[in-house]
Amino acid sequence: MFDDLNDLYQQVILDHCKHPRNFWELPVATCSAQGHNPLCGDQLRLYLSVENGVIKEASFVGSGCCISKASASLMTENIKGKTKDELRRMFDQVHDMVTTGSVPGEVGKLAVFAGVHKFPARVKCAILAWHAMMAALKGDGQPVSTENEET
Ligand code: ZN
Repeated sequence: MFDDLNDLYQQVILDHCKHPRNFWELPVATCSAQGHNPLCGDQLRLYLSVENGVIKEASFVGSGCCISKASASLMTENIKGKTKDELRRMFDQVHDMVTTGSVPGEVGKLAVFAGVHKFPARVKCAILAWHAMMAALKGDGQPVSTENEET
Protein backbone atom coordinates (compact mmCIF):
# COMPACT_ATOMS: atom_id res chain seq x y z
CA MET A 1 0.00 0.00 0.00
CA PHE A 2 3.01 2.28 0.17
CA ASP A 3 4.13 1.81 -3.42
CA ASP A 4 3.92 5.53 -4.08
CA LEU A 5 6.29 6.15 -1.19
CA ASN A 6 9.24 4.12 -2.38
CA ASP A 7 11.51 7.10 -2.70
CA LEU A 8 10.71 8.05 0.88
CA TYR A 9 11.85 4.75 2.19
CA GLN A 10 15.40 5.62 2.53
CA GLN A 11 17.69 3.38 4.47
CA VAL A 12 17.33 5.32 7.69
CA ILE A 13 13.54 5.27 7.74
CA LEU A 14 13.38 1.55 6.96
CA ASP A 15 15.93 0.77 9.61
CA HIS A 16 14.11 2.73 12.32
CA CYS A 17 10.79 1.27 11.24
CA LYS A 18 11.99 -2.32 11.48
CA HIS A 19 14.10 -1.77 14.56
CA PRO A 20 12.60 1.16 16.44
CA ARG A 21 14.92 2.68 19.04
CA ASN A 22 13.69 3.42 22.57
CA PHE A 23 10.66 1.21 21.98
CA TRP A 24 9.51 0.47 25.50
CA GLU A 25 7.55 1.92 28.39
CA LEU A 26 9.77 4.19 30.39
CA PRO A 27 9.40 3.31 34.08
CA VAL A 28 10.95 6.60 35.23
CA ALA A 29 8.82 8.81 32.98
CA THR A 30 7.85 12.15 34.46
CA CYS A 31 5.33 12.82 31.71
CA SER A 32 3.73 11.06 28.82
CA ALA A 33 1.14 11.65 26.15
CA GLN A 34 -0.80 9.62 23.67
CA GLY A 35 -0.91 10.44 19.99
CA HIS A 36 -3.45 9.24 17.48
CA ASN A 37 -3.59 9.78 13.75
CA PRO A 38 -7.01 8.50 12.72
CA LEU A 39 -6.34 9.10 9.03
CA CYS A 40 -3.72 6.37 8.99
CA GLY A 41 -4.44 4.47 12.20
CA ASP A 42 -1.17 5.38 13.89
CA GLN A 43 -1.27 5.19 17.68
CA LEU A 44 1.57 5.82 20.03
CA ARG A 45 2.32 6.72 23.61
CA LEU A 46 5.37 8.80 24.27
CA TYR A 47 7.23 8.79 27.58
CA LEU A 48 9.60 11.51 28.72
CA SER A 49 11.80 11.83 31.74
CA VAL A 50 12.41 15.53 32.29
CA GLU A 51 14.87 16.81 34.88
CA ASN A 52 15.42 20.52 35.46
CA GLY A 53 13.82 21.27 32.11
CA VAL A 54 16.11 18.88 30.21
CA ILE A 55 15.05 15.63 28.54
CA LYS A 56 16.93 12.78 30.23
CA GLU A 57 15.13 9.87 28.60
CA ALA A 58 12.53 9.40 25.92
CA SER A 59 10.72 6.30 24.73
CA PHE A 60 7.55 5.26 23.00
CA VAL A 61 5.24 2.32 22.42
CA GLY A 62 2.48 1.87 19.89
CA SER A 63 1.64 0.71 16.44
CA GLY A 64 1.38 2.41 13.12
CA CYS A 65 2.83 2.79 9.69
CA CYS A 66 6.51 2.78 8.94
CA ILE A 67 6.81 6.56 8.82
CA SER A 68 5.10 7.14 12.16
CA LYS A 69 7.29 4.54 13.87
CA ALA A 70 10.51 5.72 12.26
CA SER A 71 9.64 9.30 13.13
CA ALA A 72 9.01 8.45 16.79
CA SER A 73 12.17 6.36 16.91
CA LEU A 74 14.37 9.08 15.44
CA MET A 75 12.71 11.72 17.57
CA THR A 76 13.36 9.87 20.84
CA GLU A 77 17.01 9.51 19.80
CA ASN A 78 17.35 13.19 18.95
CA ILE A 79 15.61 14.92 21.85
CA LYS A 80 17.70 13.56 24.71
CA GLY A 81 19.72 16.28 26.37
CA LYS A 82 17.60 19.03 24.85
CA THR A 83 15.82 21.72 26.84
CA LYS A 84 12.11 22.41 26.54
CA ASP A 85 12.85 25.61 24.60
CA GLU A 86 15.09 23.73 22.18
CA LEU A 87 12.34 21.15 21.70
CA ARG A 88 9.79 23.81 20.84
CA ARG A 89 12.18 25.11 18.20
CA MET A 90 12.83 21.58 16.91
CA PHE A 91 9.09 20.99 16.65
CA ASP A 92 8.70 24.13 14.52
CA GLN A 93 11.64 23.14 12.32
CA VAL A 94 10.42 19.58 11.79
CA HIS A 95 6.91 20.83 11.16
CA ASP A 96 8.18 23.29 8.54
CA MET A 97 10.38 20.63 6.99
CA VAL A 98 7.67 17.98 6.52
CA THR A 99 5.18 20.52 5.19
CA THR A 100 7.53 22.49 2.89
CA GLY A 101 10.44 20.12 2.23
CA SER A 102 13.08 22.70 3.14
CA VAL A 103 15.67 21.32 5.53
CA PRO A 104 16.99 23.52 8.33
CA GLY A 105 20.64 22.91 9.16
CA GLU A 106 19.96 21.95 12.75
CA VAL A 107 17.74 18.92 12.29
CA GLY A 108 20.52 16.44 11.49
CA LYS A 109 19.30 12.92 10.77
CA LEU A 110 15.69 14.05 10.94
CA ALA A 111 16.23 15.47 7.45
CA VAL A 112 15.26 12.04 6.08
CA PHE A 113 11.64 13.08 6.60
CA ALA A 114 11.85 16.14 4.33
CA GLY A 115 10.58 14.03 1.40
CA VAL A 116 7.31 13.49 3.24
CA HIS A 117 6.10 16.91 2.08
CA LYS A 118 5.48 15.41 -1.35
CA PHE A 119 2.89 13.13 0.21
CA PRO A 120 0.45 15.31 2.17
CA ALA A 121 -1.35 12.28 3.61
CA ARG A 122 1.93 11.20 5.23
CA VAL A 123 2.73 14.51 6.88
CA LYS A 124 0.57 13.66 9.88
CA CYS A 125 2.29 10.30 10.24
CA ALA A 126 5.67 12.03 10.41
CA ILE A 127 4.57 14.75 12.82
CA LEU A 128 2.46 12.59 15.17
CA ALA A 129 5.27 11.80 17.62
CA TRP A 130 6.17 15.50 17.72
CA HIS A 131 2.64 16.48 18.65
CA ALA A 132 2.72 13.84 21.39
CA MET A 133 6.01 15.28 22.62
CA MET A 134 4.58 18.79 22.83
CA ALA A 135 1.52 17.46 24.64
CA ALA A 136 3.69 15.54 27.10
CA LEU A 137 5.72 18.68 27.83
CA LYS A 138 2.55 20.63 28.46
CA GLY A 139 1.80 17.93 30.99
CA ASP A 140 -1.93 18.08 30.65
CA GLY A 141 -2.11 14.35 29.99
CA GLN A 142 -4.68 14.82 27.27
CA PRO A 143 -4.51 12.49 24.29
CA VAL A 144 -3.61 14.34 21.10
CA SER A 145 -5.10 13.64 17.74
CA THR A 146 -3.67 14.96 14.52
CA GLU A 147 -7.25 15.86 13.68
CA ASN A 148 -7.23 18.53 16.38
CA GLU A 149 -4.03 20.09 15.18
CA GLU A 150 -3.32 22.39 12.32
CA THR A 151 -0.87 20.23 10.50
ZN1 ZN B 1 0.83 6.62 9.35
